[in-house]
Amino acid sequence: MQFIDLAAQQKLIRDKIEANIKKVLDHGQYVMGPEIGELEQRLGEYVGVKHAVACSSGTDALLLALMADDVGPGDAVFTSPFTFIATAEVISLLGATPVFVDIDPETYNIDPYQLDMAINSLKSGSGEHPMPGNVDLSSLTPKGIIPVDLFGLPADYGRINRIGRGNGLFVIEDAAQSFGGKYKSQMACSLGDIGCTSFFPAKPLGCYGDGGMCFTDSDELAEKMRSLCIHGQNQDDKYENVRIGINGRFDTLQAAILLSKFEIFPGEVEKRQDVAIKYNKFISHQAPDLVTPEIFPDIISAWAQYSILAQDSNHRSMLQEKLKQKSIPSAVYYSKPLHLQTAFKDLGYKAGDFPVCENRSKRIFSLPMHPYLSDKDQDKIVKALC
Ligand SMILES: *Cc1c(COP(=O)(O)O)cnc(C)c1O
Repeated sequence: MQFIDLAAQQKLIRDKIEANIKKVLDHGQYVMGPEIGELEQRLGEYVGVKHAVACSSGTDALLLALMADDVGPGDAVFTSPFTFIATAEVISLLGATPVFVDIDPETYNIDPYQLDMAINSLKSGSGEHPMPGNVDLSSLTPKGIIPVDLFGLPADYGRINRIGRGNGLFVIEDAAQSFGGKYKSQMACSLGDIGCTSFFPAKPLGCYGDGGMCFTDSDELAEKMRSLCIHGQNQDDKYENVRIGINGRFDTLQAAILLSKFEIFPGEVEKRQDVAIKYNKFISHQAPDLVTPEIFPDIISAWAQYSILAQDSNHRSMLQEKLKQKSIPSAVYYSKPLHLQTAFKDLGYKAGDFPVCENRSKRIFSLPMHPYLSDKDQDKIVKALC
């Protein structure tokens, strides 16, 4: 059994993928070929935004978004400690300071109530919310928020955007796991000022290498990100560089692969809903000591991962061992919260700062999840957990 069965997917569309790759081999425009613009157009329409800018990874998408917002030293960017390192890494890379905010116990996404408290605490110096202990807080200016749509579930953008607007902060949606998800009537990637996704193979829409995309309705931010992605070049004169940028282009071959994969993608998102609903039903009947993810009426998860909570870390180890004995893969996202990572030790956070995140990191684990998971396999997985 596979954790994510990319081979089953490829079998369905292998001919289309080969045909699209052949087109690129024939025209030979390996860098910034016509498939890039075509993909940007299609995905931009799907997400429902004016501009889509393809780039080399989800990490670079976040980096480009922060650079477009002129983030740098002295800026504080609020984000979740319960995420992949890339979310906060890009903040530090630009010399800015990540300020972590605890998560909601049910959604595992940034808690808007605590977010509001963290912003006020930094502004007033009141100390009502944990802050990086080694940083001179009076030299920090609140600049933006990066909510993460963890496991594919969009965060609470209604409240987050209101808090962002009220404090003059940008909102960059880390939608690396949520492409295909939905919050009320809006698609994931369209929920902040800029939405950033990843096409890493294991993400809901993955290519066969690295890739990412930024989405925005702002003409100005889109033009800036396009320029930053190609060494800060002038859009009209490519030998004139108007700002310091990066080499962050997406590959034509990968765009060609994604164009073929995108054709079946909306159907795959539907299939993931069925898999998740079935898991929830099987587990709540057969293994009621496990906590299943909540399914909301007006928020659709892209189900990048299907994650459940054990009672504690020993219980989790025991269950993962049981799965392993039946050759069923499982994984832990994320066992070490970002505020406790060595890479961020200079910030001066400590254990106990974010109790919900720390509790969840000890209990959470993810089961095989992909659109082609059979009832039989799901049944086998849940039986192994009992
Ligand atoms: C995967 C991921 C990223 C980074 O995407 P890459 O394409 O691997 O660079 C950023 N944030 C989150 C939440 C992710 O899951």
